[in-house]
Amino acid sequence: MNISGDLAAIFSFVLGAIVGSFLNVLILRYNTGLGIYGRSRCFSCGSPLRWYDLIPIVSFLALRSRCRYCGAKISVQYPIVELFSGLLFALFFIFARNNTFSISLFIPYLICLWFIASVLIFTLVYDLKHKIIPDSASIALAVVAIVFSVLTIGASQALFINLITALIISLIFASFWFISRGRAMGLGDAKLVFGLAVFLGYPMSISATVVAFWIGAAYALIIIAMDKASRIVATGGGDFQLSYSSKQITMKSELPFGPFLIIAALIVFFFEINAFVLFL
Ligand SMILES: [Zn+2]
Repeated sequence: MNISGDLAAIFSFVLGAIVGSFLNVLILRYNTGLGIYGRSRCFSCGSPLRWYDLIPIVSFLALRSRCRYCGAKISVQYPIVELFSGLLFALFFIFARNNTFSISLFIPYLICLWFIASVLIFTLVYDLKHKIIPDSASIALAVVAIVFSVLTIGASQALFINLITALIISLIFASFWFISRGRAMGLGDAKLVFGLAVFLGYPMSISATVVAFWIGAAYALIIIAMDKASRIVATGGGDFQLSYSSKQITMKSELPFGPFLIIAALIVFFFEINAFVLFL
């Protein structure tokens, strides 16, 4: 890596953090009836926020996570989204620099990756917060993923295979949704996974699906174990509470699957996990 490359990576991080701060607004306001273009205000006291209150990551740290005007606590979601967004922009820049073979394709390739990064972060946090994946996010992801694939492999047979695989994975998810009447899987996951699968291409799209189920299973086990442990501590190991609580967690609590899919997709993308490795 040379000096100008380092500077460009740092610039990518800063740009990503700024985009992340816009994503925070979108996550908070999209489809909630709040306008997207209004000025940012404190949720507690309504004071309009000034530019120096809105510097990604920096303002949060400088203000020690409290509103400058009323002292209300600011959600840690803001700096986390900004940081994650900055890191993802920088990682995608480095990836694009190492993987684009023609200079003329570098900029469109990078713009696609940055757009995909933004949609993924938006969708991940939105799904965690609102328990729904907006269709517009899945559609935007699918369109840009197709453009990205065409830039990478051209309108080739490989592109056709990628699209067919994505369609099959998406239909499998849709049938989970249909058979479980929406309990095991949301229809939003089936729509999201199409764009993710096109972006990753065959066979990484299959790896990502498998990895997402692994992460989901690991997460569920940790939650159940933590819940049991806390119940044992709280009740001195009372059997009634123990069985009651684990039943409550295993079946009834909603686990949004979108975040697992997105995290799995990013892991598989950066580590280039090939599907067949998973079955060895
Ligand atoms: Zn305030």
